[in-house]
Amino acid sequence: MDISFDRDHIWHPYTSTLEPLTCYPVTHANGVNLYLEDGTALIDGMSSWWAAIHGYNHPVLNQAVTEQLSKMSHVMFGGITHDPAINLCKKLVEMTPDALEKVFLCDSGSISVEVSLKMALQYWHAKGTPRAKFLTLRHGYHGDSFAAMSVTDPDNSMHKLYKGFLPEHIFADSPTCGFFEDWQEEDIQDFQTKLIENKDTIAAVILEPIVQGAGGMRIYHPTYLKRVRELCDEFGILLISDEIATGFGRTGKLFACEHSDITPDIMCVGKALTGGYMTMAATITTKHVADTVCGGEAGCFMHGPTFMGNPLSSAVANASLQLLQDTNWQEKVSNIESVFASNLPTLAEHDKVSKVRWLGAIGVVELHAPVNLEEIQKRFVEHGVWIRPFGRLVYVMPPYDISDDQLKQLIDAIASCI
Ligand SMILES: *Cc1c(COP(=O)(O)O)cnc(C)c1O
Repeated sequence: MDISFDRDHIWHPYTSTLEPLTCYPVTHANGVNLYLEDGTALIDGMSSWWAAIHGYNHPVLNQAVTEQLSKMSHVMFGGITHDPAINLCKKLVEMTPDALEKVFLCDSGSISVEVSLKMALQYWHAKGTPRAKFLTLRHGYHGDSFAAMSVTDPDNSMHKLYKGFLPEHIFADSPTCGFFEDWQEEDIQDFQTKLIENKDTIAAVILEPIVQGAGGMRIYHPTYLKRVRELCDEFGILLISDEIATGFGRTGKLFACEHSDITPDIMCVGKALTGGYMTMAATITTKHVADTVCGGEAGCFMHGPTFMGNPLSSAVANASLQLLQDTNWQEKVSNIESVFASNLPTLAEHDKVSKVRWLGAIGVVELHAPVNLEEIQKRFVEHGVWIRPFGRLVYVMPPYDISDDQLKQLIDAIASCI
């Protein structure tokens, strides 16, 4: 592989052209393995950033893509509709909480967040009382586009760089009470105070339900989210649930908001939607929000990307959701959770480790000091695993089909490499 061309000309996520880090050449992937050019097989601990829940080169998903490919790979969605989109949206309406029934298909997670924020802004505009503030949580992550960045954690992200351009929103302290701990009512205090102080300007609350992903891999108590829903209801504020990382079984429920038995007004899904095959996301809302938005001055929802409803992505997403429904994913995810529960606590005794936590098919080891990414990545590869830490966090969220042995290899590799 022409690695030197790659180093000289190609940007990877969050990389420097001055000091490009090593990139490992992958030629193919199958099941839970990624294969390097020299033939080395790596057990995948990342599911390609939460996406490849069924693993790679899956015959059912491959078939969905090839069948659709011979019919049409793309056609515009303006004024045209097709079975792949209809079938996918039927599934989304059926799988998500009952009140969510209007689906907007979009290109990527960040865009589904943009769409959700635009829906909330148009909702208030249509009601004749425009509002432009969002309340969100510290340590949150909602994507890299501008509006998504503006509701992402202000300290550990890009707010300083883009100051003056990014709109300023309201940040409440993130929850501290862990998922398996006893609920402490004061955990919601800061959120409640900020919401009440700004109750007449907040258009919506946006948060990641139960698991805050890229902003810190924090796993919080279901009662926190329940209280958020109650407060939003009390003050008539919309609740946007960003399920882009947590959706489709990852936390042990189909959607993380089910842990708290709540329904958001708007839900964003992405990442695992296509089983990791293609980029696609969706923003799903209630009839009330959709009808209010469309009853406003604009007369419609003002968004319509070129590749909206892409038939190839829709077909594979539909097949991926069907596969999920047809398999015993609950059993697989809860088995992964029990392997974490019986193996991660020993890791917590390691002197480099500050805390461990887990939920569903997510396992997190938080260190005292940030890792040297270049060095630890190399060691992981030597141990036959693909794990990509960030900062002080070494975490895994493998494909659901991973075997106990393979999962233990991931955990053993973490133990030796840290
Ligand atoms: C990854 C992620 C996004 C952004 O999705 P992209 O597809 O990378 O644009 C937004 N919100 C959450 C919670 C995510 O994990």
